[in-house]
Amino acid sequence: MSAEKHLCDVCARIARYHFAVAAPVEAKRCKRHAIFYPPVRRRALQVAAVVGTILFGINQADVVLTGHLTALVAFKCALTYVVPFSVSTYSALQINRLRDDDNSG
Ligand SMILES: [Zn+2]
Repeated sequence: MSAEKHLCDVCARIARYHFAVAAPVEAKRCKRHAIFYPPVRRRALQVAAVVGTILFGINQADVVLTGHLTALVAFKCALTYVVPFSVSTYSALQINRLRDDDNSG
């Protein structure tokens, strides 16, 4: 258990997440800065590109290719990419969160 609180490397708020940079160095981030931490965002975009495209092909490609694109279908297409992006980001944050006793001071 750490005797000191971990602070965000960017804004000095209490850090909720930590990411391995190069052992033993780790980046500490508050929730706001962890969501936009470049390695997390980059991986989430890669996952969204692959998984979103597969889901688009399964669910909306036939509608779009037959020319029946409506505003609702376009919205669904966007959500098809937002969902895997969100799941990847959430998963990365959960696996890298600091435990409560890490910030118990
Ligand atoms: Zn911060």
